Amino acid sequence: MTQQVATTSEYAVVFSDQNMMHRILQNALNNQDISSIQLFNSEQNLLAELGKSPQQTRSAFPKQQTTKEYDTHLESISAIYYSNNTLDGNFDAQTDLFTPNSQRNLIGWVKVEADKSSLQVAQYQYTSLVIFLLICFNILAFFVAFHASKFITQPIVRLNTALHKLVKGQFSSVKLMKLPPEYAALQKDILDITERLEHHNEELMAGIEQATEDIRRSMDSMEEKSAQLHIANREAMESSRLKSQFLANISHEVRTPLNAILGYTKTLQKDIKDPQHRLYVDTIEQSTNSLLAIIGDILDFSKIEAGKLNLENNHFNLKTIVDDVYQTLSIHLLTKEKQIDLVPDFNSDVPEWLIGDSTRIRQILTNLVGNAIKFTHQGSVRTKVSMTSQANQNITLSFQVIDTGIGIAEDKIHRLFKPFSQVDTSTTRQFGGTGLGLVITKKLVEQMNGHIEVSSAPGTGSTFRFSLVLQVSPNPPTQKPALQRHVVILEPSPAYKYYLTRYLDSIGAQCTACTDLEQLISTLHRQHEHIDAILLNVCPGEKGKKECQELISYCKQQFDIPCILMIQPPGQIAHYSDLKHLCADFLLKPISQERLYKTLNQLDHPHDGSAATIQTHIDKDLNKENIKGIKVLAVDDSPINLQLLDHWLTPAGVKVSLAYSGSQAIKMALEEHFDIIFMDIQMPEMDGMETTRQLRQLEPLKNTPIIALTAHALGSEQQQILASGMNAYLTKPIDEALLFSTIETWRANTDSFQEQVDAKLLHIFDLDKALSIVDGKVSIAKEMFDMLADSLEAEIKLIRHHLEHQNTQKLIEVVHRIHGASKYTGTLAISRHAGFLETHLKELGLEEVDGVVDDFIDTIEDLLNHRKLIPWPQPLDSSTTKA
Ligand code: ADP
Repeated sequence: MTQQVATTSEYAVVFSDQNMMHRILQNALNNQDISSIQLFNSEQNLLAELGKSPQQTRSAFPKQQTTKEYDTHLESISAIYYSNNTLDGNFDAQTDLFTPNSQRNLIGWVKVEADKSSLQVAQYQYTSLVIFLLICFNILAFFVAFHASKFITQPIVRLNTALHKLVKGQFSSVKLMKLPPEYAALQKDILDITERLEHHNEELMAGIEQATEDIRRSMDSMEEKSAQLHIANREAMESSRLKSQFLANISHEVRTPLNAILGYTKTLQKDIKDPQHRLYVDTIEQSTNSLLAIIGDILDFSKIEAGKLNLENNHFNLKTIVDDVYQTLSIHLLTKEKQIDLVPDFNSDVPEWLIGDSTRIRQILTNLVGNAIKFTHQGSVRTKVSMTSQANQNITLSFQVIDTGIGIAEDKIHRLFKPFSQVDTSTTRQFGGTGLGLVITKKLVEQMNGHIEVSSAPGTGSTFRFSLVLQVSPNPPTQKPALQRHVVILEPSPAYKYYLTRYLDSIGAQCTACTDLEQLISTLHRQHEHIDAILLNVCPGEKGKKECQELISYCKQQFDIPCILMIQPPGQIAHYSDLKHLCADFLLKPISQERLYKTLNQLDHPHDGSAATIQTHIDKDLNKENIKGIKVLAVDDSPINLQLLDHWLTPAGVKVSLAYSGSQAIKMALEEHFDIIFMDIQMPEMDGMETTRQLRQLEPLKNTPIIALTAHALGSEQQQILASGMNAYLTKPIDEALLFSTIETWRANTDSFQEQVDAKLLHIFDLDKALSIVDGKVSIAKEMFDMLADSLEAEIKLIRHHLEHQNTQKLIEVVHRIHGASKYTGTLAISRHAGFLETHLKELGLEEVDGVVDDFIDTIEDLLNHRKLIPWPQPLDSSTTKA
């Protein structure tokens, strides 16, 4: 614009034409951006001006066009030239100036000021437009990119979803999948895979369904079978129970008549003189005894089969048991013709007192030693006992029953422990038997955690070995003062000689053993001053008796040494009775250690001792003297049994009263005083135990000895019998001698019933302790005791349950609970055993715990059985307690 004005105003300036100048300037000012326009001459004087007054008054006037920018406006100055020939010239591109060919003269300047605001607005508008366009472009680019990405990723997402559904098995959804045509091949493959998978899946499902159906069917059939088994099991259990019940009843029913048969047989035996008749009666007695043994065996066998054979725990003296077994068996099995040495042989490490089921141990020994005697015709039967191991209170004893009998063929040994099998029927016939003895023995041994085995050689003999796990009793060993005696033995049997020598050594006696007469005579001659007694084996027969008589006389007259005769078999005692004034004592072979000690100990008073002992053996009538005049009440529903008792007792001078029922017995006992009452257990209406309980309530009968007559006498029943208030029991069939000795024992027993109860409770319960803990308050002590006792049966079940599930922690908890409670209730034995068991469980866990648990449970049962016998005093403190 400035350049244009400069060019157009050339002539106006040259000719100073103001109008022209104004027109030109007005023209220029029409442009609304121009705020002022001025023309200057060459001397920089203002020629013309239009518009607002210029903001920039003073400026330098350059020769070339310049444009300056200020805050609010633009200033442009352009020089005005005049040329003579303006038509011919060149345009200088660099200066933007038209250079005429002729000379150019500077004639003035044009100065234009333009307002910048409109320019700025335009500039802002432009910038805004650009920004707007950029945003629009970006948005557009984003949408384009978004759509483009959607186009690419959507098929991939669909593919992904399809695969996911494929994995989940939603095949139909996969088939509905739509992909762009580019993915057609991939889609086809996926559909193929889907179809195959679907197919496989269907096959699999069909297989599973089939298998499930099969399982369901077999489950149904199993359930059915299980139900059938359950029913069969219940039926079997019921029939087993019925069988046991039946056997127990049969046993009772059979024993009752047998009792009568045996009783009367024994009575007949005394009166019969005719040898033939005596033989008949003897046979009846023998057969009856065999029948009893068979019934006993069958009952035991059935109990074992039914798993109902429970062992008891009592303190017993093993030597006494072995002695007793030998004594009993020798009486029944040895004969004049059968001379066998019966030798017990105990190692010194075997404790005297043990805890276990003495009745069953006796049964085991009776069976094995009995068999050994039966099947040995000459030689010996030895019973060796030794200890194999000891762990705390538990010991394992090893028993060997060694015989020199007929032996057993190797191929028949395996039949020994099978029920109802007998190896040698011909010999067995001689003695009877059911073939159950060894089976029962084996089961008993195993139940006592032992093991039994046999070795045998035909013609040489057999050895039955068995082990038993027992407990050492805290009972102190019997203290016997050492016997300062010198004893000479004449004993031809080496085994017996060895046995006697060992025993005499063990009791401190000096011993010289001789095998024959010459040896004895020479010993007597050499040492007669130091010899205190001679133990003389008597050979059977008249010759033996004569020799013996001579020898005794010789010893007595020559050296004044007393002789003790060792006689076998026992039936010979009567045969030697005329020697009784000559010798110091008779001892039965096998010789009981107890009796031997007693005899040797009494040697200072030989005559008193011999008379008494011989009389004991030969004539039991003396015992009957002691019981003359006593009053006995016999209670039994069976008239036969009552008659038998009457028959035995009346001739002995006993005044017998008979009661046929419990109520009759109570009535009679109230009317009359009796020294002793014999009470049958099984009676209709009121049984023996109930009758006893009622009798014990009556003041005059509190201390009268009541003896049970029972056919069962199983472990549990014995406890019940004693708990009902009876003092003892006799098992049917009743042995006459035992009956008399029982009467003698109990009529002489000055202890009151309560004293006997105290003796029973001694180790189980301490009343004083129970009371002292609660300051003598009976009701509190009893309440505490009852709480413990009432909980014990449930605790036993818990103990068994935890033991079965091997849960040591829970077991400790139960035992600890009982241990804690038992300390405050006077239950000594439970407290002690709970302590043992708790320590065992904590230190050794479940290792070898069974025995300790059994003991603990036995102790608890012992307490529960005797619970009713505890003599709680009358609670005087009830008011105090309540207060
Ligand atoms: P039983 O009660 O009939 O005697 P056991 O079971 O006790 O039955 O014995 C079975 C058989 O084993 C006997 O009949 C006998 O043949 C054989 N037997 C047992 N002990 C001996 C032994 N010590 N010597 C030889 N045979 C024996």
